[in-house]
Amino acid sequence: MTERRGSGPSSAVIVAVGSELLTPHKTDTNSLFITDRLNGVGIDIVQKLVAGDEPRGLASALRYAMTAADVVIVTGGLGPTADDVTRDVVADLLGVPLDESADIVTRIRARFEARGLEMPEINRRQAAIPRGAEVLPNPAGTAPGLWLTAGGCRLVLLPGPPRELRPMFDRLVADRLAAAAGGRRVQRRTIRTTGRTESHIDELARPIYGPLAARQPSVSTTILASLGQIDLHLSTVGADPAEGGRVLDAAVEELAGVLGSCVVSTDGRTLPEVVGELLRRREARVAVAESCTGGLIASRLTDVPGSSAYVHAGWVLYSNQAKVALGVAPGLIEAHGAVSEAVAEAMAEAARVAADVDFGLAVTGIAGPGGATPEKPVGTVCLALAARGAPPRVRRVQLPGDRERVKFQASQAALDLLRRALLRAPSTGS
Ligand code: AMP
Ligand code: MG
Repeated sequence: MTERRGSGPSSAVIVAVGSELLTPHKTDTNSLFITDRLNGVGIDIVQKLVAGDEPRGLASALRYAMTAADVVIVTGGLGPTADDVTRDVVADLLGVPLDESADIVTRIRARFEARGLEMPEINRRQAAIPRGAEVLPNPAGTAPGLWLTAGGCRLVLLPGPPRELRPMFDRLVADRLAAAAGGRRVQRRTIRTTGRTESHIDELARPIYGPLAARQPSVSTTILASLGQIDLHLSTVGADPAEGGRVLDAAVEELAGVLGSCVVSTDGRTLPEVVGELLRRREARVAVAESCTGGLIASRLTDVPGSSAYVHAGWVLYSNQAKVALGVAPGLIEAHGAVSEAVAEAMAEAARVAADVDFGLAVTGIAGPGGATPEKPVGTVCLALAARGAPPRVRRVQLPGDRERVKFQASQAALDLLRRALLRAPSTGS
């Protein structure tokens, strides 16, 4: 559905210009910002191109971009120096002359004078306007932006520095494109899960998200896997936010229904935030005893503002001696080893009792690369949750990856153990 078929712009190509973007030292971040804003008004990015400060390459990128989408956003190459060639290349491509704008020269000169400086002659280059272009003023810098139309394509040129581009985009470009796109906008929801693999989530969700995409209005789904967490991103595009909200709510409900207890949140909250909210609601407090995670669980719990309401204490019990000092029986470590369900359970109970709280959460495991045995390979992690007045929950998991990945996943599994207990167990009181 392109504008040329009469429904407003729906596709865009972003062209990032700058030879520095083709080195290992500089990343094109402008396109991420622009993508977010254009998606928000229902315009899809169909391609991103990066071109150096070199006229032939830039001309071929622009020529191609203008055939591929309704909107082409170009960032960079509007500076005053000879390597900033965007203006010249665009004028050449459209077959129009460059006119110097006396207005812009005056404005640039005033910027220099405000700093007690004389305008260098080369800055006149920034006042050169391809004939027919509309000037987009740049309050934060000398390079104005330009808005052109050619063959049904909107071509928008913006300066490269993010602190100049962002306010210009929001003030001068976003609303115009939104209006042209007919007031459509993207609405999104995220279903966050933990404790299942990406393929398992896909297997459960696919029978639902296939039909969702075929419905009107259509809901599209993408799976995003990160360490210890799989997110389903749902989105719908439309001009009626109430209708969009309704179809997304229904889709979330359907998907969350089949995914079951691995759903951590449907409103963007993180696992530590969800655990915190559950603890707060029960007026319960937790203490943690951590071996292989080295304090990561306590750290992640306390990343949440207001966590002092439910995080009471934490111990890093790295050595056997430290475990014993908090209350783990030495015989237990001798009989089962420090990485064992029995020791995890004893650590959790020791922390709970020492802190005199409702829950004690403990982790002991082999983060690697050393310390493994045939029975306990790297990634073996034992987790336990002790609860006041309820039987303990103990789990043993085998986690993949290097030391850092094992530590994070172990913290994730421990927090999830607590989350599940809080969802299921009757209130323990406090
Ligand atoms: P220019 O408009 O080409 O003079 O860009 C000036 C500066 O903006 C560059 O030196 C970069 O530091 C920054 N810049 C340009 N393009 C980008 C981009 N796509 N993403 C992030 N920063 C950029
Ligand atoms: Mg540049």
